[in-house]
Amino acid sequence: MGRVAPLPRECVPLLAAQHRHAASAVVATVALPGFDNSQVDGYALRSGDAVAGAHLSVVAEYAAGGSSNAEVTPGSAIRIFTGAPIPLGADAVIMQEDVRRDGEHIRLNAGVEAGENIRRTGSDLCRGQRLLNAGDRISAVTLGLLASQGLTEVQVHRNPAVAVVSTGDELVAPGGSLLPGQIYNSNAVMLRALLSDAGVTQIETAHCRDDLDETIATLRRVLHECDAVLISGGVSVGERDFVKPALQALGVETEFWRVNIKPGKPFLFGAAGGDRRASVFGLPGNPVSSFVTYHRLVRPALMRMLGAPVDRCGADDVRAELVEKIVNDGGRPHFVRGRLLHGKFSPAGLQQSHALFGLSQCNALLRVEAGQTLLPGSQCLVSLV
Ligand code: AMP
Ligand code: MG
Repeated sequence: MGRVAPLPRECVPLLAAQHRHAASAVVATVALPGFDNSQVDGYALRSGDAVAGAHLSVVAEYAAGGSSNAEVTPGSAIRIFTGAPIPLGADAVIMQEDVRRDGEHIRLNAGVEAGENIRRTGSDLCRGQRLLNAGDRISAVTLGLLASQGLTEVQVHRNPAVAVVSTGDELVAPGGSLLPGQIYNSNAVMLRALLSDAGVTQIETAHCRDDLDETIATLRRVLHECDAVLISGGVSVGERDFVKPALQALGVETEFWRVNIKPGKPFLFGAAGGDRRASVFGLPGNPVSSFVTYHRLVRPALMRMLGAPVDRCGADDVRAELVEKIVNDGGRPHFVRGRLLHGKFSPAGLQQSHALFGLSQCNALLRVEAGQTLLPGSQCLVSLV
């Protein structure tokens, strides 16, 4: 994680900031509510006059967005609508359901206390209060909150430009027809969609055949243009795996290759030189391995580039109860794919690295350590995916 850093800051229009991370704190300049106003449609009055059975004369009307100088004096009330400012002299609002209107008078069916049905200035947010911290993820509600301050822009971290490079002679783009031995390229669309989920908007895709020169040429181009490059396949140890030699030819430093997890062992991480110092992620071609390594290793790095604080780059972990026994008799931690439903987790689908349909049945990953046996009914932490 220390190998990637948040990208430089930029100011963007509010709607371009959704799902991104604030690059600086924002302090309220407009209180919420901005003025004392009515919570209901009713009548503004003095609480001292508000006893059941009282008769008051209605002297004016206040609507939301309007302004008036009319005041409430003893024995009088002002017709008021939700969101309208509280008139001078009034210290409560009675709901219209609690009065009977008769021409220019009302008769109260109930009393009200001082302050009742009044939304006080600053009771939600005060001026000077911090409404956003640097690193906070900007949600739809955050955008509404920024708009409530009259803002049209917010400072975020630059969105990374990311390339998804699929390698493999066997790959055919969906829409084409398959010859014997060929498969559709499912990783490219899955990875693009995962990137969109993470808030990445600038994504380009490329495909290269299992050929060293073509791999070098494709990677050279995208490394020049992007902050991060996700390569699918070709990162293993076969003679037809050209990612490592291509990266070497391009001077990309491999920071690590092969990780001690299942699935996903052949994963590679490297950093290119040049202005952008693009991060390079070599994901195994098997769809489940691609998915698991994306979640565990790529997404956290992208979240960091987007400006998430280090301790908030990981997946959301939730407590779950295991429904069935799970044994990992292998030598690597195993990310078991499964279904989390009503707080209970059960493995789902074929647990093999090519099993894309099996993966599609899952919404959570459970890390089971090498040699570990987990019993039914035990508590565990699963990552939502
Ligand atoms: P590789 O990592 O290139 O050795 O590929 C491992 C397995 O993943 C092989 O069975 C490939 O056919 C498959 N594979 C590689 N790339 C993709 C892709 N983009 N979409 C679906 N499967 C793939
Ligand atoms: Mg391959």
